[in-house]
Amino acid sequence: MTSLDDLPIRDDLRGKKPYGAPQAHVRIELNVNENTHPVPDVVIADILGRTEKALRSINRYPDREFVGLRSALAEYLGHGLSAANVWAANGSNEVIQHILQAFGGPGRSVLGFPPTYSMYPLLAAGTGTTWITAARDADFVISPETAARAVADAQPDLTFFCAPNNPTGTPVSLDAIVAAYEQTDGIVVVDEAYVEFAPAGTPSALTLLEGRPRLLVSRTMSKAFAFAGARVGYLAADPAVIDALRLVRLPYHLSALTQAAAEGALAHTELMLAMVDDIRTQRDRIVVQLARLGFTPYPSEANFVLFGNVADPHAIFEQLLAEGIIIRDVGIPNHLRVTAGTESETSEFLARIAPLAPR
Ligand SMILES: *Cc1c(COP(=O)(O)O)cnc(C)c1O
Repeated sequence: MTSLDDLPIRDDLRGKKPYGAPQAHVRIELNVNENTHPVPDVVIADILGRTEKALRSINRYPDREFVGLRSALAEYLGHGLSAANVWAANGSNEVIQHILQAFGGPGRSVLGFPPTYSMYPLLAAGTGTTWITAARDADFVISPETAARAVADAQPDLTFFCAPNNPTGTPVSLDAIVAAYEQTDGIVVVDEAYVEFAPAGTPSALTLLEGRPRLLVSRTMSKAFAFAGARVGYLAADPAVIDALRLVRLPYHLSALTQAAAEGALAHTELMLAMVDDIRTQRDRIVVQLARLGFTPYPSEANFVLFGNVADPHAIFEQLLAEGIIIRDVGIPNHLRVTAGTESETSEFLARIAPLAPR
């Protein structure tokens, strides 16, 4: 059998590993920050009606500009945005890829603040963009001074903020984003994949878009919307940015079925987001309880918790897995990450990890 190394693969991809969160199907899956609550039946019924309608014309290419979906997303986002400000793709991963294709590429660079979303360096590599990194402050915070200095020093073509940050749960202040923006002529991306889980009243980077044409705010339906399997991510920015992304997308990249399903979900925003409050409660419970057990959980504004003081992450990961619970070893020494599940999933995780705790 031929191995990958035998193929005439691009030199810059040689030796690279694909994204590989373990995808074990076990009883309690708390490893990839999905919403563990299923979509309500009435929403499924509406989506079935809409996809059936889409199937009646599936012999035709879908709306290349997916105007219906972009309008629905703009309405959900508010902040005076319209369809002209909105882009979407098959997951925000593809949105980020479009951004890098349009604004990155060979000879260009993207700055990030590790530990952060593991897909950023992979998407950078795939588009030939150089991934450069800057350090965070204590407890994974990025102060406005740190943000400004990092951007001024590196002069990247793009800067990525993950807010709240995966895998740490740390929020990023709007002041830090503005401070970075003011130090660069490049693109600044704020990845708000988890923003719906932030405390009520927390301002989104959407509030900064007015007058900042190089600021891009990306979102996803994969987390709070419980729609990971549908693959729908989106972005809000100046209409000129949307024109740039049109240059690199594949024609008809969003299938008619995806558009119909996403529009169906967005027609029931309140129901789809009904579990967010409960997930926040479970997240806060995890933080309190893990601290009592002697771990060191970090404050989180997302639907997961990173915790330290784990003597042997691999051993705890394997022990929980043997009991039908999968969490995530994100590669930070002596740390593990767990997604907030339903109340009963969370209770079982906490009960099973208790005997493995440092105290
Ligand atoms: C999960 C996640 C995404 C979402 O990816 P999709 O492709 O939309 O499923 C984006 N950014 C971060 C930081 C994430 O953790």
